[in-house]
Order: sequence, then structure tokens, then C-alpha cells
Amino acid sequence: MSRAATLPRLIDGKATAARVLAEVSDEVADLRARGVQPGLAVVLVGSDPASQVYVRNKVLRAEETGIRSLEHKLPADTDEATLLALIEHLNASAEVNGILVQLPLPAHINEQRVLQAIDPLKDVDGFHSENVGGLSQGREVLTPCTPSGCLRLLQDTCGELRGKHAVVVGRSNIVGKPMAALLLQADCTVTVVHSRSQDLPALCRQADIVVAAVGKPRLIDANWLKPGAVVIDVGINRIDEDGRSKLVGDVDFDSALSLVSAITPVPGGVGPMTIAYLMKNTVAATRRQCLAARPAQP
Ligand code: NDP
Repeated sequence: MSRAATLPRLIDGKATAARVLAEVSDEVADLRARGVQPGLAVVLVGSDPASQVYVRNKVLRAEETGIRSLEHKLPADTDEATLLALIEHLNASAEVNGILVQLPLPAHINEQRVLQAIDPLKDVDGFHSENVGGLSQGREVLTPCTPSGCLRLLQDTCGELRGKHAVVVGRSNIVGKPMAALLLQADCTVTVVHSRSQDLPALCRQADIVVAAVGKPRLIDANWLKPGAVVIDVGINRIDEDGRSKLVGDVDFDSALSLVSAITPVPGGVGPMTIAYLMKNTVAATRRQCLAARPAQP
């Protein structure tokens, strides 16, 4: 029997995220036994309903794993200087090991300036240029949560990734580009395609692995996929269908299912992994800060 035939067709992000969170809980217990409690500061500016839900979920997961969460909710008209002053305070605080600024920020605040103000050692979203550069150089740094979660799903699903051809659809700074860098580190052959690429279906049909991070509902259907491909669908798109509102991915799940060897559902695929890897990054950041602070042994 071929390996493809033995693979599960549905990649269960919820179950994998639960395993990752259990690993995090063990690591937090170990740190606490040594007198260190990881702390995650979550900063929300304004009252965007989706951002509020994301922040609530992050705080809940932190508390479940024993990470101390510190919420900072600021009004939508907060000016950039006030936000930068808060980040400076969090950078200096010994209680805070990870800092997450929920995006998007209100239009009057320069997002890049704010992300660059975060201490790279506390940058649990992995968006600071020091960490972005480190990832592309193959250094051990804090890496963005969504692509890190996707990599874990692929490792658990495929086992060895070396030599596989991965096509990443989308080249954003938060998903597509870091995903490509992580897959390169895992020794995949990586193709990145985007809105200006020619003949996307033909490029995707070459792929053993497709990671879709586009933001276009059901853009990718069975005609884009090689039989037996593994598909990670990052997209989260809200659509109205049959008189009701629902979430769908960038992949036409029903048409892809008959062809692929494994695929993530939306919801219940990549989404839970993003939050789980935020917790994993918080623990990794705590460990590095403790090691950096510890005096060298004689
Ligand atoms: P961006 O809008 O920042 O980037 C989208 C990318 O898709 C761009 O590189 C764009 O190309 C490319 N693109 C757009 N249209 C096409 C097309 N027709 N064909 C090929 N490529 C195209 O989105 P994000 O990367 O931030 O997010 C992507 C999706 O993932 C969204 O649905 C988002 O909600 C979801 N997401 C889910 C997360 C999770 O936890 N599950 C976390 C983060 C995002 P170009 O650069 O040329 O414009």
C-alpha cells in the first residue's frame, strides 16, 4: 500500500494544538519549579470585534498553560507615542517575557515603527527585523506563529520533508514569506507564487505540498492539485452562502478532498496552531532571557 493511502485525509489542527499546548504546560511547570513564571503581555488598541476575540483566546490559552497574561487595552484614539512608551515599559519589565501587539493597529499608528520597538528577545510574533533576518539566515530566533504551526502540521503529517516540492501561495510578511523560509530550512524545494505569477494552477500542480495563504475564498480547487498532495489551508474567509454566514479557506475543500492525501479543514486546521505556537514562543523567549541573564559558569 502506498504511503499516501495510509495518511489521514483530515489534518486535525485542534488535536495537534492540544498536544503543543500540553508540551507548553510541561515546560511552564518546569520553569516554575525553578522559580520562573513566563509572562505574556497582550496589547490591544481599539475595539475591533475580531481582534477582541483573538486577544481573549490568547489570554485564555496563556492562563490554561500557566503563563501569566498581562492585558493592556488602549482606546482607539491612543497616539503612537503613548503606545511606544508602553512598549518601552514592557521591554524593561522583568515580569514580561513576551510582547504581542494585536494587529491591525488604527490607521494613524505606524505599524512597522511599533513592531520594531519591541525587544527582539520578547518578540513572540517574530515580526521584528532582527528575527525576520535571523530566520532567513537560518539562525535560531523567534519565528512567526502561523507558519511555525503549519510546519508542525506538515512534520506530523508527512514525517520527513526533505526534498519535497512545496508551493506557497501568497507572499505576505506574516505568513507567505516566513513559511517559505521555514520550508527551505526543512530542506524542501520551495516555490512562492503570488498575484502576479503566471499560470498558478500549473505551478501548484507540481507541488507535493501546497500552503495556501491568500485570503480568497476557495481559489484553489482540485484542478490546481497533484494527486496525493498535502494541503495546508491558512485562509480564513467569511462568506454568505445558502442564506447563512460561514468560514471557508482559500482551498475548495470539497473538491480537493477526493484528490489530496491530507488537508486541513477551515475552521479547525491552522487557526488553533497559531495560538498554540504563540504560547510555545513565549516559553522559548522566557528560556532565552533566563539563559541570557544567567552569569557564565566559571
Ligand atoms: P495578505 O493579504 O497580506 O497576503 C495575501 C497574499 O496573497 C499576497 O502575497 C497576494 O499577492 C496573494 N494573492 C492575492 N490574490 C491572489 C491570487 N488571485 N492568486 C495568487 N496570489 C494572490 O494576507 P495574509 O498573508 O495576512 O493572510 C492570508 C490569509 O490567511 C487570509 O485569509 C487571512 O485571514 C489568513 N490568516 C490566517 C491565520 C490563521 O491563524 N489561520 C493567520 C494569518 C492569516 P501580492 O503580494 O502579489 O499582492
